[in-house]
Amino acid sequence: MKKIVFLGAGYANLTLIKKIKKKNLSKAEFILINNNPYHYKTTELHKIAARESEKDIVINLKSILPKDVTLICDKVKSIENGKVVCENANYDYDELYVGLGASINTFGIAGLDECLNIINYKNALNTAETLYKNLELYENKNVIICGAGLSGVELCGSIATTCKNLGISINLYLVEAMDEILPVYAKDLAKKARNYLENLGVKVLSSHKIIKKVDDKLFLNDENNYIEAKTIIFTAGVKGSEVIANSGFNHKNNRVLVNEYLMAPNFDNCYVLGDSAIVSNFAPTAQIACKQGKYLAKRLNAKFEGTEFNEPFKYNDKGSICSVGKDYAIGVILGKTYSAFMAKSLKKLTEVEWSETLK
Ligand SMILES: Cc1cc2nc3c(=O)[nH]c(=O)nc-3n(C[C@H](O)[C@H](O)[C@H](O)COP(=O)(O)OP(=O)(O)OC[C@H]3O[C@@H](n4cnc5c(N)ncnc54)[C@H](O)[C@@H]3O)c2cc1C
Repeated sequence: MKKIVFLGAGYANLTLIKKIKKKNLSKAEFILINNNPYHYKTTELHKIAARESEKDIVINLKSILPKDVTLICDKVKSIENGKVVCENANYDYDELYVGLGASINTFGIAGLDECLNIINYKNALNTAETLYKNLELYENKNVIICGAGLSGVELCGSIATTCKNLGISINLYLVEAMDEILPVYAKDLAKKARNYLENLGVKVLSSHKIIKKVDDKLFLNDENNYIEAKTIIFTAGVKGSEVIANSGFNHKNNRVLVNEYLMAPNFDNCYVLGDSAIVSNFAPTAQIACKQGKYLAKRLNAKFEGTEFNEPFKYNDKGSICSVGKDYAIGVILGKTYSAFMAKSLKKLTEVEWSETLK
């Protein structure tokens, strides 16, 4: 029987697995290798780090996987043509789907590797623990979030509202090199998010470029300008998985340059999806990861059923919503701008949609 192996239980591969038709699941051996026995919703990790909520963010993989898919908990180290090298064993495959997600990219800026981050569930938990412990232990209540993209702003909003609701004293800084936060949105929309954060007491430092971190000091713009903080959280950059760099793929920032069918050109029967792949100039998002999963499931189903499916992968970005604390959000969907209640409702809808896909 043909052995089909999926690496990574994120948005991309779980969508793919869930979209394989039931009748086709008996036509091959399916194996999912993931470093944890659970799936975490990356798009909601800011809530874990801020202790805003834990509800439904981590899901036991056994409870959602079809019974025909075998789960192996192991850490992938590298991929060779026909073989996956993991910490505990090696696994051969006839067809491979690589969806190993992202890692932190600090662009080589000195000291930033020591910052906390929320790139995965464990790191988000560690961030929460360190943040609240530091706020309790030290006189210095400064907390700095580096980067005001979507995840930085979502985290900042969550921490600001949670601390306010719990009556915890905090000086929260949001540092951004660009002249406005949330550069993916039009400035007037981003300004709404900024105003909301500032009303919560956040000090938004746009046009502040991080030059280095030394111990508790984060240097901004020049050697004489720094903020001292016990808690510094980095959200300003991501790249693909180190596994991509270790495996001889043709890649950029650890993301495989795939062809129009999401295949790695120099590997046999190897598809790459989600944050592990580069498609045109699209930013890595859960939306594109799910779309790729759906597309590859269609290809796989067609193959099992002996029908033609030669369409290349196509993608239209529908836009995004950024939550700013528990009760506010902004964003653009299908070219239409939303803020406040409508945006928050749309954000909740996308979260519910993903939970429904996993059922
Ligand atoms: C904090 C944060 C907030 C975000 N917010 C949004 C948002 O609001 N909207 C949006 O569209 N996108 C958002 N994104 C981006 C989005 O989450 C990703 O694009 C999406 O998760 C990519 O899906 P994926 O399947 O490629 O990887 P992931 O969902 O990250 O899954 C990768 C899986 O691989 C596993 N894994 C990793 N390395 C190994 C290894 N070596 N061996 C075995 N298993 C491994 C991981 O445990 C994980 O289960 C956010 C990202 C982050 C980090």
